Formats: sequence, structure tokens, C-alpha cells
Amino acid sequence: MLLSAKTKDLVYLTADLLSELLSIARTKGGCIIEVKDTRNMTNVCQYEFTFAYLLFEGDIGFGGHTVRCNTISLVNCIDAEAFRTARRPEMSFESIPRDQVYRFLVYHEIGHALLNPIWPKSKTIRNVDGTVNQEKTEMVQWGCELRADRFAWKSLFPSQPLPRRDGCESMVRSLESVMWSHKDLFAGARVPKPL
Ligand SMILES: [Zn+2]
Repeated sequence: MLLSAKTKDLVYLTADLLSELLSIARTKGGCIIEVKDTRNMTNVCQYEFTFAYLLFEGDIGFGGHTVRCNTISLVNCIDAEAFRTARRPEMSFESIPRDQVYRFLVYHEIGHALLNPIWPKSKTIRNVDGTVNQEKTEMVQWGCELRADRFAWKSLFPSQPLPRRDGCESMVRSLESVMWSHKDLFAGARVPKPL
């Protein structure tokens, strides 16, 4: 019998793996994890994966509740092909082994928890006249993504060079320039408060 559709390569969040990830999130990032059904995690944010994202303490969760500590939302199942081809500013995710996908995502979100600027709730950069500077806000957001990817890779594979995607150089140069000009926002890492 011929198969008419390509079978998806799915990576599942098992109970044992979740237990390990919870421990990593608590001790390394001072975060908790909430697990979401994969179908409820589409189109979360243009900068972010549809596999995981971080709610900062005080943010409003999807259920309308205020989160009391930094909370990593994580899907219960990942399409490995979609993960490998995720659009990133610098990294190629092709080099992340299938069995490290979930660990990478959790470290990535911990990277946000420790490295992201603490914005006002609007999370925007404003011009002197008070209007939103959309371009700079987006560049700062992408700068946060770049940093979180680097943080996750270094946490998992400290002795291996970061795998970069082809053609990322000009994007990385632009982001590093914006990060330099806003170095007040991109200061050193916060020290996690283990839970
Ligand atoms: Zn991110």
C-alpha cells in the first residue's frame, strides 16, 4: 500500500523528560513550566517559536490569569521538521539533535528570563515624542532572540561553536549594532532565583 501523505516526525514531551525540564527551569532559571496542547500554541508571536514562550512575572496568561513567577509555556509535542526549519536571526537549528530539542527550548526561554531587558509592559521602544519606534522595537526583540539562542546553545553544548545559518551575517551585524546602541537594555545576565 502506498502512503499518500508524509508521516510527521513528532517529538513528544514524556513524563520523565518533563520532570527533568522542570528541574532545569527551577534551578537554572527560577522559572516554572506549564504544558500546553500543541494545537493551542500557533501564532504566539512573530519573534517566537510556536513551541515555547516565556511569560514574565506579572504577565497575563492565555487563561486571563496573572502569572506569579516567570513561566515557560511548552507544547506537549513538537514537529521536528518545523523545529529544524524555524526562522531564526542567526542560528541554524538543523544541528540540534532530535533528543535535545526540548532541552534547547527550555534553555532558550531561561535565556529570555535572565537576559531580556525588563521592559515596561508595552514592550516597545519609544521615540522622544512618545510614539512607538516600530523598527527599533522589532530589532530589539530579534536581539533578544539572538541572545536566547546563543545562551541555549552554550548551555547545552559549551565546547561546540554556534551553528550559524547561511546568509545570517548582515542580520547579525545589524542586531549587534542595535544591541550596542541600546546596551543599557542588553546588560549582563540576571542571577536566577532558584525555585
Ligand atoms: Zn525566544
